[in-house]
Amino acid sequence: MSRFLNERYRKLQAYTPGEQPQGRKYIKLNTNESPYPPGPGVLAAVNSSEAADLRLYSDPESRALKEKLAGLYGMKPENIYVSNGSDDILNFAFMAFAGDGTKVMFPEISYGFYEVFADLYGIDCEKVPLREDFSIDPDDYVCQNKMIVIANPNAPTGKTLEVCEIEKIVSTNPDHIVLIDEAYVDFGAESCAELVHKYENLLVVQTFSKSRSMAGARLGFAIADAALISDLEKIKFSTNPYNVNRLTAAAGIAAIEENDYYMENCRKIAATRQRTAEALTEMGFDVIPSRANFIFVRSEKIDGGEYYRRLRERGILVRHFDREKISQYNRITIGTDQEMDQLLKVTKEIIGEAENEKE
Ligand SMILES: *Cc1c(COP(=O)(O)O)cnc(C)c1O
Repeated sequence: MSRFLNERYRKLQAYTPGEQPQGRKYIKLNTNESPYPPGPGVLAAVNSSEAADLRLYSDPESRALKEKLAGLYGMKPENIYVSNGSDDILNFAFMAFAGDGTKVMFPEISYGFYEVFADLYGIDCEKVPLREDFSIDPDDYVCQNKMIVIANPNAPTGKTLEVCEIEKIVSTNPDHIVLIDEAYVDFGAESCAELVHKYENLLVVQTFSKSRSMAGARLGFAIADAALISDLEKIKFSTNPYNVNRLTAAAGIAAIEENDYYMENCRKIAATRQRTAEALTEMGFDVIPSRANFIFVRSEKIDGGEYYRRLRERGILVRHFDREKISQYNRITIGTDQEMDQLLKVTKEIIGEAENEKE
């Protein structure tokens, strides 16, 4: 840290992304990326003529992309906001809709970035404990008079709330934003996006990073009442008007045109998830039922950190959070069937070893 950094950022604890190894080849099950490549339309869209146009700025209003998304979700373009990854929307939402007396609340165990943004903007936050089984109790969020942020499905648990439960939260906090982060919704949960026609305080956030195989392109979007979208636009035009670059916009449009390809991949991933969960359960793991592209697991037979390290030594990366209440767990992204077979094989060896060591 230099001596120039503003006082208010000196204690900020930045978010720690999952590892992106650059040398050794790992089976990468640690950052919830898709194991499947983008479709042929995206590969064709990111071509040399599009690259030649990189000398020009991108459309600051992202009209074509918004129209495509609006068509897919039964919205008007003015209900859609697009961004450089959905983290950017979360950033703007904390910046724009909380603070100055408005507190924010979110589940104690959830996406780690929420707390970072609250810290960044000096917003008081309330972290609400989950139930014993890691589910969210929607009643904790009813009539709270605070901004509310919930990932649905939640991360890293993969558990979901029903749309009617979300509606109860949205309808009983009419004077505050309820942000529903649907990063994993395409893997088997139900989106609450339709509710934006009924509630002006609902902000639904999604991303192309997971279900549409485009984590490296950085494309997120929000669905909300037009007035909320215009608030986000105002912040965007006050910080970075060209927040979606030309190549990403072209890739995003192409991806929506071949949406069925991605939704089919999501079904494949859900089937692989089911099979992997069953196999791990058979080996004695507790596997939390997940509707996302990852599972959250632990075994009495091996410490959570130890399982993480031994997988890593054998070339498989998963995500271990060294945090109270979840340090015995690992979050395992669902890869291809082949990758999960390797995970299961290696896990069997590791558990066998651990049991021998105990004797
Ligand atoms: C991955 C993830 C994001 C961020 O996605 P990007 O669009 O890649 O920035 C947001 N929320 C949750 C819960 C996530 O898991």
